[in-house]
Amino acid sequence: MKAHDAMYIGGRWRPAAGQDTIAVVNPADEQVIGHVPAGTAEDVDTAVRAARDAFTGWAATPPAERAAKIGALRDVLVARKDEIAETVTAELGAPLGFSQMVHAGVPILVAGSYAELAATYSFEEKVGNSTVLLEPVGVVGAITPWNYPLHQIVAKVAPALAAGCTVVLKPAEDTPLTAQLFAEAVDEAGIPAGVFNLVTGLGPVAGQALAEHEGVDLVSFTGSTAVGKQIGATAGAAVKRVALELGGKSANVILPSADLAKAVGVGIANVMGNSGQTCSAWTRMLVHEDQYDEAVATAAAAVAKYTVGDRVGPLVNAKQQARVRGYIEKGVEEGARVVAGGPEAPLDKGYYVAPTVFADVTPEMTIAQEEIFGPVVSILKYTDEAEALRIANGTVYGLAGAVWAADDAEAVAFARRMDTGQVDINGGRFNPLAPFGGYKQSGVGRELGSHGLSEYLQTKSLQF
Ligand code: NAD
Repeated sequence: MKAHDAMYIGGRWRPAAGQDTIAVVNPADEQVIGHVPAGTAEDVDTAVRAARDAFTGWAATPPAERAAKIGALRDVLVARKDEIAETVTAELGAPLGFSQMVHAGVPILVAGSYAELAATYSFEEKVGNSTVLLEPVGVVGAITPWNYPLHQIVAKVAPALAAGCTVVLKPAEDTPLTAQLFAEAVDEAGIPAGVFNLVTGLGPVAGQALAEHEGVDLVSFTGSTAVGKQIGATAGAAVKRVALELGGKSANVILPSADLAKAVGVGIANVMGNSGQTCSAWTRMLVHEDQYDEAVATAAAAVAKYTVGDRVGPLVNAKQQARVRGYIEKGVEEGARVVAGGPEAPLDKGYYVAPTVFADVTPEMTIAQEEIFGPVVSILKYTDEAEALRIANGTVYGLAGAVWAADDAEAVAFARRMDTGQVDINGGRFNPLAPFGGYKQSGVGRELGSHGLSEYLQTKSLQF
């Protein structure tokens, strides 16, 4: 895909207000693969106006017609799925197979789910002598990260459009080509001008201008906790709706009755996918003391199969690589034991980090508390279920998790006591309709399915 030297605003590609550009780098070989415009507050303002102009018409479009447009968008994504996968691989570095299955596959599923939901969702309900109208919130400012570049966009734009909102997107600076490809798909799908607008640019410039813009009614942000807090404060001061999907430090709880080899193997795969750059990754593995040594050996053997450059891609950029290697060094300093990997870069070129497993990790260590966002697993020991629960719930985060036991009922009993937004029971499958989002500092609001759609609606009650 060739980079556009323009913004997609009001249904056409138009030059940015300024001259600055952002270089897009392939993290596998450190080569520049394109440049996109670095948008400013002026571009954001133009895009928000276009979204505002389009809002009344799109909000009044019957839901079945909005559904048909989202369905057409899904069809374009299907037709262009190979190009999507190649683009994500080029700018994020994910292995091509993973890009095809996950980075292209999941957004297609999610777009399809919203094409269906928009057509079937009840935008009106009766409560006693009232009719409650569920109306679109208005103009949405969407700010997305680079780790699942297309999924994060579709998980905001599809429900917003289904609800009748219009959108201005500011994608991550590391992965703008995928966002440009998405804008092309929106255009090809015949979605009316101004309903979706794209402004590429830097977070503290274009992102901040979008979050602060008074013409934006709802800000939906996914990314770091630090920026999320700032956006939450800005939105709060303006009495503006906000949805925040922030970090995680999810626990993979392996109860003594579980199939240990399977639980450890799936747990390692869960973290290694996307080089650990997954907010819901199960980065803390919790194992009973009697099975601890066996689990550590199994984990080390499992990680050895994740060859760098082949099954595990690079991190997105040099900064993330340095950050993750810093965490690995910190783990060693604080007394954790490296059983696989370590801080040294495994290849001379590319922003790779060695798949790493730490044993003897205790709950207060930095690597057991902070989001590392790399291929690093910490294995912690517990003596009984009460301690496992204390450890599982003992971080500021609560995004996801897993529980393994001999039967589902035992795992569910534990999962009910976890302070977290999603739990996979005995390796449960991804469900694109299940609400996704955090307890505690993992965020505010939910994405996906009907819960994700309702984030973009506000209620009006008519009494009779
Ligand atoms: P980030 O929060 O800086 O970036 C996310 C998005 O926010 C990008 O589009 C960025 O341009 C924008 N942004 C940055 N500063 C902004 C500001 N002041 N106002 C408005 N928008 C702004 O994240 P990062 O620096 O790319 O990654 C750092 C860490 O964040 C990672 O190591 C990881 O721990 C976490 N992270 C989490 C997720 C997630 O899915 N929850 C995704 C990416 C990163």
